[in-house]
Amino acid sequence: MRFTRTKAILAVAGMSLALAACGSDSDDGPEVASDTDFEAGTTMAEIADRGTVTIGTKFDQPGFGQKNLEDVPEGFDVEVAKIIAGAMGIEAKDITWKEAPSAIREQVIENDEVDFVVATYTINDERKKRITFAGPYYQAGQQLMVKDDNDTISGPEDLKDNPDAKVCSVTGSTPSENIKEYLANDRQLVLFDIYDKCADALSNGQVDVVTTDNVILAGFVSKSDGDFKLVGEQFTEEPYGIGIKKGDVEFCEFINKTLADNEDAYNEAWSSTAGEVEGSEPAELPEADSCS
Ligand code: GLU
Repeated sequence: MRFTRTKAILAVAGMSLALAACGSDSDDGPEVASDTDFEAGTTMAEIADRGTVTIGTKFDQPGFGQKNLEDVPEGFDVEVAKIIAGAMGIEAKDITWKEAPSAIREQVIENDEVDFVVATYTINDERKKRITFAGPYYQAGQQLMVKDDNDTISGPEDLKDNPDAKVCSVTGSTPSENIKEYLANDRQLVLFDIYDKCADALSNGQVDVVTTDNVILAGFVSKSDGDFKLVGEQFTEEPYGIGIKKGDVEFCEFINKTLADNEDAYNEAWSSTAGEVEGSEPAELPEADSCS
């Protein structure tokens, strides 16, 4: 088997250590491997040799992927992505973040616009026709968010009884599909490209309900200063995966192993981001699916 030595190893010439066995804390996030050794031709070798990585994430979702005032995205997905990049010797400063709204995630992977996507991305069979998922790395579930003074809608089953109530979600998301069976008519559903726009529409009364994953909504509730609340139970399962090029089994297995080997970093990633939201439960890394 031929192995390619990466740029990263030049920094520690002469040392031969297992992947991530020797690492340094970058000033911005999880451990960065200072010695990597990947089989030539793999995605990991290509990224490590390049010394940079492009990652798709959300820019508008508090707690998961949201741009801060310095224009840099922050959140759990961003930290999970940094753990994976770090295991290939890539520091946070060498990551290029690309906004990946729900509807274009498969497309940016297929078109090689990103190396991988970490973006509250539910693993499902439809999407697996176009891409491969590593993970899951988190289990969410769909819920509803309304204005704090709304006493009419307390769960998805109230939507048919209130056919004038408008429900907002995002194009290309699983919640925008799942909600349809609970609606009285098509006109009830309002779709935008990003969740920020749904939150604004709820704020100014253009819609009555926003629906997506519980943890995304919880971020908006916490930002709303008491203006929004979650209602009802979670009514779907949304296992979050990391989207990669279809059929890249080696990269998928590498990502799964990296997360399993870095549970402390995973827990820290959660507790410093989405885990800070009031009422959030500790995250538990689920067992990974097999890669295909
Ligand atoms: N997890 C769901 C999905 O992948 C909703 C969140 C999102 O749109 O990113 O479609």
